[in-house]
Amino acid sequence: MINDLLQRPLKDLRISVTDRCNFRCVYCMPKEIFGPDYPFLSKQELLNFQEIARLAQIFAALGVTKIRLTGGEPLLRPNLPLLLDKLTSIEGIQDVALTTNGVLLPKYAADLKAAGLRRVSVSLDSLSDERFGYINGRGIGVEPVLKGIEAAARAGLKVKINMVVQKGVNDQDIVPMAKYFKDAGHTIRFIEYMDVGNSNGWNLDKVVTKQEIIDRIGRHVMPLEAVPGQYFGEVASRYRYKGTEQEVGIISAVSDAFCGTCTRARISANGSLYTCLFATEGTDLRGLLRSGMPDDVLAGRIAHIWNNRDNQYSAKRGRDTNEAGGKQKIEMFYIGG
Ligand code: SAM
Ligand code: SF4
Ligand code: SF4
Repeated sequence: MINDLLQRPLKDLRISVTDRCNFRCVYCMPKEIFGPDYPFLSKQELLNFQEIARLAQIFAALGVTKIRLTGGEPLLRPNLPLLLDKLTSIEGIQDVALTTNGVLLPKYAADLKAAGLRRVSVSLDSLSDERFGYINGRGIGVEPVLKGIEAAARAGLKVKINMVVQKGVNDQDIVPMAKYFKDAGHTIRFIEYMDVGNSNGWNLDKVVTKQEIIDRIGRHVMPLEAVPGQYFGEVASRYRYKGTEQEVGIISAVSDAFCGTCTRARISANGSLYTCLFATEGTDLRGLLRSGMPDDVLAGRIAHIWNNRDNQYSAKRGRDTNEAGGKQKIEMFYIGG
């Protein structure tokens, strides 16, 4: 196990498998910027499955036990179950998860389950076709996502729902979403809108805080009680409806930052290592892999980077100031949240 400068161990690895997406969410890949001529990565620029598995093995030897595949939209990466097969068989990796917008789950859920995937997080920001179509930038309705959620559950995957809440855009959907997924028996996690990347026009006034979300659900759905955290580095604050086992999570990256227990490293689709979601600089692991560097030397380089990590972006974020200090941050669709 290796620790950073704030004694945070390296335990989780998020791997983006593509920078492409079939959605154009307003807060992630606004369609005005990510148009038909946008220069997405070529096949050569992406890490191939052997390279991803090799890195995962090195990270596992350094203490990583959990991997999450993300993107862009990870299900757009051809043959993803083959990668899952490789990752789930690495010694030390106890859990591999996937974050997806869900529309391709009817096609792939069974193959993903067969390849060893146990759980999936599906992003859905509204139950209104109109608002969801606006948010995803493609006019796609809610039904394809609900079908994806059903397909995943039918295939035996544990499903969690992620909803990014933006004040004035979809905060009226907090209560209907909470009710719908309480009845469906899936945990929903509300995510405070974040200033990731450089193109979503974020400001603090667009954030609905954890406390406001809990209050609204308590008032209009059912009172909640806190559930004690289960492990160091847990991202969501957990609650359950009083007297039930049905949980709700809140990812309070803005109003109640959790940098103090952040154990996550991220690898972008083109193989750069980032030690924070809001990083301005990464390390080109792809170049090192392709240079023929032996695994033990590469492991030493990664350990050195982690040992010198002191990122605390969310904990230090002010209304108009942040750790990036005006530099360009990595975009969400490169590192996948
Ligand atoms: N395409 C997949 C999806 O949407 O689930 C995986 C990648 S997406 C970048 C991962 C997660 O980040 C999604 O749940 C998405 O809603 C969330 N996300 C993207 N931009 C965000 C932002 N500005 N603030 C908070 N969450 C954001
Ligand atoms: Fe695509 Fe996910 Fe970003 Fe939406 S949040 S544009 S689905 S990568
Ligand atoms: Fe971790 Fe950076 Fe998020 Fe803080 S801001 S929790 S250090 S990823």
